[in-house]
Order: sequence, then C-alpha cells, then structure tokens
Amino acid sequence: MIITDTHTHLYSEAFDEDRDAMIQRALDVGVQRFFIPAIDSSYTENMFSLKKNYSSYVHLMMGLHPTSVKKNYKEELTHVEEMLSEHEFYAIGEIGIDLYWDKSTLGIQQEAFKHQINLAKQHKLPIVIHCRDAFDEIFEILEEEKSDDLFGIFHCFTGTIEQAHKAISYNMKLGIGGVVTFKNGKIDQFLNDIDLKHIVLETDSPYLSPTPYRGKRNESAYIIRVLDKLSEIYQLPQEKIAEITTQNSKDIFNI
Ligand SMILES: [Zn+2]
Repeated sequence: MIITDTHTHLYSEAFDEDRDAMIQRALDVGVQRFFIPAIDSSYTENMFSLKKNYSSYVHLMMGLHPTSVKKNYKEELTHVEEMLSEHEFYAIGEIGIDLYWDKSTLGIQQEAFKHQINLAKQHKLPIVIHCRDAFDEIFEILEEEKSDDLFGIFHCFTGTIEQAHKAISYNMKLGIGGVVTFKNGKIDQFLNDIDLKHIVLETDSPYLSPTPYRGKRNESAYIIRVLDKLSEIYQLPQEKIAEITTQNSKDIFNI
C-alpha cells in the first residue's frame, strides 16, 4: 500500500528532536510520498536540506503562506519567484487567505494570492490553497482567475457540501486530514456524496492531529487514522482508498 501525504511540514522545528525516527514511522505504515508546503523564506534552507536527506520521498512546493503576508511581502514574493526559476517544485503553496489570525492584511493577502496564482499558471504548476475564515474571499478570486490551467488542492477542506462542490468546480481536489476524525468536524457527514476522485489525503503535521491524538503534535504516520475514517465513510478497504488518493495526487503534482 502506497499512501501519499499531500501536505506535511516535515521541516518544522517541532520535529527537530526526532525527525528521522518520525519519518521512519511514516515509511513503516506505507507513506512513501510526502508533499511539503512552503511558508516563507525563513524555512527555505530547511526545506532544501530535508529534500537532500529524503530525495526519493520528499517533493517540495514553493510559495508564501497568507499568515506570512506582512509589510515585506513584495520581497517575499521575489524570493518565491527566484526559487521557482532556480529549483524544481511540484506546486505553488501554501497560498490563500487567512482571516482568523489577521483581518487587517486582507488587501495584501488578496494581492499575494492572485500574484501566486499567476506564477502557478506561468510555471504550469498546481496551487495548494490555505483557507481560514475566508471561503467567500477565496472563491471570489478563483472566480476571477478560473481557467483550464488553474488547478490544485483545497488543503484542509472544512467547508460545507456546497463549498465542496464549488471548490471542485474550480478544478480543486479536497485535501482531507485529521478534521474528518473529529466528532464535530462535520465533513464526515457529507463526504460520501463526494466522489473519491476529488479527494487527496493529508496530515498538515505538526498541526491538526487526528483523534485520538487531537491537541498533540501530529505526524505523517497518523495519516492511517484518516485513511481508516475514509474507509468507514466510503465502505472501501484502506488499500483502495490509498490507491485512488495516491493516483489523484499523481494527477495533480505530475509525479
Ligand atoms: Zn500547512
């Protein structure tokens, strides 16, 4: 069984004490493909050293996370562009809008999001969207920018079924992680109405641990809990869920 974690921050300082052992635990349960979202330039070096140590498993993204869109965002976007022209990446991410932490930066978050959507189109790469308290604002930009060459993943999807259909209509797959295992996570209620061809798996580790680790540090090996829950929702064996979602990730990332 090959499992793909489409969103994991393996370079996070949360793993500095036991990174190798943590990655080994994930490999042991079958996670062989790790897609690594960027945050901002302060993590770039750590991402490259991760890639060097785990080159056959790890695939990097490049982008500026919405909570890192601050006064210096233009310099940060220049860094993203430079990296894209010098190295190989498999997506622009994570990018989007986050109104949970800071509403005052909405204007520049919108600008940075649009700018990076256009970088994705230029480089023929998928986008990986981070959306927190900002469905309307994200959909407004996707509506403006929609085209055949805009596609990607709506990471950590936590919306309603209507929002799920809307995301899919913009060529987005839904990234499903620990939230699906939460008692009040809600998405487990309608997910079986969404065809598995629109779903990819993720952990967003070290964040958003699935039940029974909720509140603790998350890691890629815990993706098994997500797989288990989807197997229950779709009434399919774990192997089948892993196979379909891995194929979906190949379609998106082109690797
Ligand atoms: Zn993330």
